[in-house]
Amino acid sequence: MTPILQLRETSRSFQKKGKTISAVHPVNLSLLPRDFVAIQGPSGSGKTTLLLLAGLMLSPDSGSVLLENQETTHLSQEAKTRFRASKIGFVFQQFHLVPYLSLLENILLPASFQNTATQTLETAKTLAESLGLSHRLDHFPSELSAGERQRTALARSLLVGPSLLLADEPTGNLDPASARIVIEKMQSFADAGGAVLLVTHDRNVAAAAKTQMAMDTGTLSPATT
Ligand code: ADP
Ligand code: MG
Repeated sequence: MTPILQLRETSRSFQKKGKTISAVHPVNLSLLPRDFVAIQGPSGSGKTTLLLLAGLMLSPDSGSVLLENQETTHLSQEAKTRFRASKIGFVFQQFHLVPYLSLLENILLPASFQNTATQTLETAKTLAESLGLSHRLDHFPSELSAGERQRTALARSLLVGPSLLLADEPTGNLDPASARIVIEKMQSFADAGGAVLLVTHDRNVAAAAKTQMAMDTGTLSPATT
């Protein structure tokens, strides 16, 4: 089976006030279809940096990032953007919805530069329904609860049918019921053949994943619970 994501000795540091901060030490990680991996670690341990590396939003200092066996490190920005747009869904703790677009328009956002075929509209509505949002399609983000906003962001991230879903503290601002819906949707995305990489400081959220790992000061290890 072709891995969806592979990190090979991937590392990244930052310069801050003349000092070098090693945010992610060389890590190795491989996600196959149907994998749901949660990385749990304290604030500042390098979780967000790791996700940005996996999502091609940050270049590694060393090592490589492979998506569906394709080495991405030396691709042009344009090629990376294409990869991201077609293969990778992102969900963040802050939902990043566009305030002047309706819930349905927000879900459709990734398609607006490609096509707005009837098929896409149907996909958006089906996603909204699967996340319990059908009664809110015409509402603006300011009229939605935090949980509804995050479910909208999740629907948007799945619109184009990505193979990889990256989630950074996706339930950090949510009530328990919405958090459960979000996690269950991620589980069913993985069950359908996708790969999920979720990072969180919350042990209980990490427990929902099939595989748990721990991150501490830039080092990734199997979780010891
Ligand atoms: P986490 O998501 O686990 O809280 P981060 O990946 O955000 O951790 O950060 C890991 C370390 O890297 C921290 O020490 C943080 O201050 C540092 N860091 C992250 N991004 C930057 C940046 N753009 N510039 C400088 N330092 C950064
Ligand atoms: Mg973070």
